[in-house]
Amino acid sequence: MQPYAPSNTLVDKISRRLRPLRNTRKLAIKLDKPLISISFDDFPVTAITNGSDVMEQYGWRATFYTCAGLEGITNHHGQHFRAEHLLKLQAAGHEIAGHTLDHQDCSVLSDDAVLTQIEKNKARLCDIGITQSIDGFAYPFGAATAPLKKLLSHKFEAIRGIKTGQHTHSADLNELKSCGVYSSTIDNVIARINALPAAPAWLTLFTHDICDAPSPWGCTPAEFLRVLDAIAASRADVLPVREAVHFLRGQHDQ
Ligand SMILES: [Zn+2]
Repeated sequence: MQPYAPSNTLVDKISRRLRPLRNTRKLAIKLDKPLISISFDDFPVTAITNGSDVMEQYGWRATFYTCAGLEGITNHHGQHFRAEHLLKLQAAGHEIAGHTLDHQDCSVLSDDAVLTQIEKNKARLCDIGITQSIDGFAYPFGAATAPLKKLLSHKFEAIRGIKTGQHTHSADLNELKSCGVYSSTIDNVIARINALPAAPAWLTLFTHDICDAPSPWGCTPAEFLRVLDAIAASRADVLPVREAVHFLRGQHDQ
């Protein structure tokens, strides 16, 4: 079965062009060294074993955009997390964030259905034993719309999309830019990281499976290590998205 892909008509493309300008929630950014957040979406176990477990050796923590309804399933990303994985991630200090219960394309759901997906996901995470508040969200498939940005604006501290880019002067907390760490993008991502010390910015990254034969939305363990080594060489601060937002807010208070 082909993985689901959201609609991509001309109208969709035009609305995507205009969306960054609509229903924004701006966070001003002024950094004198790079800041990087690494995230994993609807994640298989390999995102932990070859991803966050390795990050921990660098002293870094990640954000996991979690669909509780995908617990224990196997799909094109491989075998997914189980409850004990989430508890271990929480105990190690990683951020658990929301991604709808069942990885639904929110751009085609009613507002009520979107909010139900979000609340059911939170409730399931709570049942599993997640005690941190779910402050972050990522649009499944990156499928944001201007009305969705407005609907979710006050529901989460920060919402991540998948539009490639980084944040130099400001970030839109209703749709953070993020760069996919895929085998096909790895050289671009590393070039972007290498350029950060000369022009500090907040860069968020995301990926899915990390294994020797990754899906098109994942990478190999060796490629992921190359990214981590580039980050270490850039001397960036590495924080989960929630902590990065707190850090950036604190910068304003100084
Ligand atoms: Zn996803």
